[in-house]
Amino acid sequence: MPDPLPIVVLASRNVKKSGEIRDLLAPYHIDLKSVAEFENVPDVIEDGDTFAANAAKKATQTARHLGMWAIGEDSGLRVDALKGAPGVYSARYSGEGATDDSNNLKLMAELNGVPTNKRGAGYVCHVAVSDPEGNVRLSVEATCRGRITTEARGTNGFGYDPYFEIPEYHRTFGELSPLVKQQLSHRARAFERLIPQLVAVLSRATG
Ligand code: IMP
Repeated sequence: MPDPLPIVVLASRNVKKSGEIRDLLAPYHIDLKSVAEFENVPDVIEDGDTFAANAAKKATQTARHLGMWAIGEDSGLRVDALKGAPGVYSARYSGEGATDDSNNLKLMAELNGVPTNKRGAGYVCHVAVSDPEGNVRLSVEATCRGRITTEARGTNGFGYDPYFEIPEYHRTFGELSPLVKQQLSHRARAFERLIPQLVAVLSRATG
């Protein structure tokens, strides 16, 4: 029997996002714990200018604090007509105390009057993996292109999903099943590339 892979901590308290990541990793027998399962882990201040910087900060700070391998994920929506906004500010687009609803209201207001052919957008996901000493060992970014609708459609997913349409499917991520989102999304694409490298790096760590 080979040695089991080291436990990996996911540095996110976002329940829906963590659920998606857990599902993506499930077939690979990686023992994934949530940072929420540990006491007194300080929240990471997401003050980076890029998804990469925030993902690295989440991974390294959590890894060093717990002395364990950690995954940091930072993601968001970049809207072409808004010059890439809300970008790294996606979670707090509408300010202090932002919710998915208030962020979506702001997005609709900002895009008011923008025609369909100018409503292109991309969801971006950056994933960083840190070793227990706080060194970034892996870093991957992926994008999923779509279009922002004028009305909410569907209740699946989270965040901007009811307004993010995949043009080929004529459906938003709010309407598409979680199974389809798990094939197409920015997060799915990033993890698809990350997983073989993650398994390799963790296997070397056990040896
Ligand atoms: P983070 O937790 O700081 O990475 O913020 C991610 C934010 O980006 C979320 O709160 C959402 O607003 C948005 N976002 C990222 N990924 C998704 C997704 O898959 N669906 C909808 N919104 C997303």
